[in-house]
Amino acid sequence: MDKKKYCTAIVLAAGSGKRMGTKVHKQYLLMGGKPVLYYSLCAFDKSRLIDEIILVCGAGEEEYCRKEIIEKYGISKIRKIIPGGAERYHSVWNGLQETMDGYVYIHDGARPFVDDEIIKRAYECVSEYRACVAGMPSKDTVKIAGPDNVVTETPDRSSVWIVQTPQVFDTGLIKKAYSMLMDQNEISVTDDAMVAEQMPGCTVKLFYGSYENIKITTPEDLEIAEVFLKRKS
Ligand code: C5P
Repeated sequence: MDKKKYCTAIVLAAGSGKRMGTKVHKQYLLMGGKPVLYYSLCAFDKSRLIDEIILVCGAGEEEYCRKEIIEKYGISKIRKIIPGGAERYHSVWNGLQETMDGYVYIHDGARPFVDDEIIKRAYECVSEYRACVAGMPSKDTVKIAGPDNVVTETPDRSSVWIVQTPQVFDTGLIKKAYSMLMDQNEISVTDDAMVAEQMPGCTVKLFYGSYENIKITTPEDLEIAEVFLKRKS
């Protein structure tokens, strides 16, 4: 068996959470009495596959994260807490500057239900394909629409996946892909797979996340998350 590769988790928590409509950023809202961000940090902290965590938070929130989350809940694998940027890809870029060779798990801190099984499936997948993302087959039919909301296309549902995080890559590969992206003038990316997909010859493999691996974005997500959390405990 190949030697285990060094694994870094970049956990992103620098979003402003406008769609939540609260003053407190969505990743710090309480869920089961603990901040949403705690749960994904805890999952990576406990995983035997993960060697270190880089936490990317809003500029000026580093001390809050250190005191109120990392120290309070005893998260031990944090190597650095760094500020993010204006867009998600800026935050990822900042996180990537801190990584070493191996594999990197890029994860939204607003997805509290990542677990050991997903982290393991990701490791198996990235070992084989070098670029992979968590996702689930879409339960709904998806429509592509123009700016006037008129449907232009209905993709075959059996080939539609809803993409999640972690998105996991060979570190050298994703760093190269991101540095090519950052050289472009107009950047429009919403996930890391899109960045890897632009690399010539790079294929991105989907592996199963879970239907529970939701992103806390709007207030009803938090209500659903409380239900999932109760079921788990
Ligand atoms: O905005 P969106 O819901 O896509 O954010 C996904 C994740 O990326 C969240 O965990 C958020 O905190 C993070 N993010 C970030 N820096 C940004 C925007 C979003 O770290 N500038």
